[in-house]
Amino acid sequence: MDSAPRTDPLLDVLRDVVGAEHVLTDPELVAPYTVDWSRRFAGPARAVVRPADTEQVAAVVRACVAAGAPVLPQGGNTGLVGGGVPASAPGPAGPPVVLSTRRLTRLDPVDDLSGQVTAGAGVTLGDLRRHVAAAGWEYGVDFAARDSATVGGTVATNAGGIRVVAFGMTRAQVAGVEAVLPDGTVVSHLGGLLKDNTGYDLGALLTGSEGTLGVITAVRLRLHRPVGATTVVLVGVDSYDEAMAAVRTYVAPGTRLLAAELVDDVGMDLVMAVAGLPWPLERPHPLVLLLEVEDGGTGDGLVVPDDADVAAALDAGDQERLWQYRERQSEAFSSLGVIHKLDVSVPLPALARCAAELKQAVAALDSVDRVGVFGHLADGNIHVEISGPDADDLEADALVVETIARHGGSVSAEHGIGRAKAHWLPLSRSAAEIATMRRLKRALDPDGLLNPGVLLDDPTG
Ligand code: FAD
Repeated sequence: MDSAPRTDPLLDVLRDVVGAEHVLTDPELVAPYTVDWSRRFAGPARAVVRPADTEQVAAVVRACVAAGAPVLPQGGNTGLVGGGVPASAPGPAGPPVVLSTRRLTRLDPVDDLSGQVTAGAGVTLGDLRRHVAAAGWEYGVDFAARDSATVGGTVATNAGGIRVVAFGMTRAQVAGVEAVLPDGTVVSHLGGLLKDNTGYDLGALLTGSEGTLGVITAVRLRLHRPVGATTVVLVGVDSYDEAMAAVRTYVAPGTRLLAAELVDDVGMDLVMAVAGLPWPLERPHPLVLLLEVEDGGTGDGLVVPDDADVAAALDAGDQERLWQYRERQSEAFSSLGVIHKLDVSVPLPALARCAAELKQAVAALDSVDRVGVFGHLADGNIHVEISGPDADDLEADALVVETIARHGGSVSAEHGIGRAKAHWLPLSRSAAEIATMRRLKRALDPDGLLNPGVLLDDPTG
């Protein structure tokens, strides 16, 4: 993976900026930064650079751009669309310098009056969540990769997760962003004013920009009042329609729904085998729904019919056990090898038909061994996991995104476009929207050196 020449003047400059020990070129040290979590995407890097603060990030970006070298921002490397690792075939400017944000671990005290906190881009989601919980607050974003995914990565991808139904996506939590633009300019808006109508919201533009417009170095985040004790249930259901009706009717009036997640029988079989878990319900079902509600941990927040097949958990240990069936889905599928992971969303009225249609169509492909669906039901967000096709065989992926588009859905619900879906962006965004994105990209990054090939496969158009 290491294609750094023996003497590389750019790397000498970068060593002066961050210290020699933070410019990695040893193939063994570089390797973990050049292959993604799913092992489906990998490519060569010129070096990995690990700046310690915003000034160092700015100096690194300036040096790379002056040398005509692409820069690839990387956080926890848990992204699942290939946006955080180099392309397998480098573009004309050669392999990128991977700019790892993991040393940007600033974590300010919680501002109790505004209910906000400022965090460095390299802080993990788990550390952020523990930090604010210790101060009596809740951060609204959470998902299984919490102990690796970074604040910067979650903002750059506008991550969703298991609490979107209660708190919204990452964009809803962002009160301000500090970032280094491709020319080395630092834009910083971390004051956290509750009301602040002063022109373009640059933080909102950088949120979800997937490292193509700038390197996020710190973020001002809105927090929520702590969640009280909860009840978690698994419910066996026989169809998507039944699952959606349960979300609508089981939650008692006045009770806050915190999560509504779904796992199909393929995913259940896998997670039981991988995690050594028993079947949690009385009878077999094609789908298992997980609901979590804030009801003081009494169980009163859910009104479940007597004939429903339910496992309920009121205390934290039991709740964690039930959550495992959902939280370990990605890991369970990945135990089968390189998995094609398609994160998509569908309008809720079309979800049942669309999910059945695409599962049947994908399963019929010769290359496919197994196809399973799990996801965030209340958000219309399903993850289609496919084993069998080679990493670069896109037939099944194309079938999924085309089916989704036909049903009025989005080719990316929460993971972003990355490299994996850049080609399919026109299925979800109009020509006028993509042209506008290209104009923004050219205005901020005229040489196309920030994460080339990600989001816009041909940024200069
Ligand atoms: P990386 O993977 O390092 O990077 C992702 C993208 O962001 C890349 O394009 C990269 O260039 C860019 N980037 C990273 N940091 C910066 C920065 N500081 N400035 C500018 N650009 C940057 N995602 C969800 O939304 N919901 C889920 O429920 C969910 N569950 C997951 C479960 C598992 C087990 C795994 C492995 C992943 C899951 N993901 C989920 C996907 C992933 O965790 C998220 O996309 C996460 O936001 C990526 O954060 P990261 O720090 O790992 O970013």
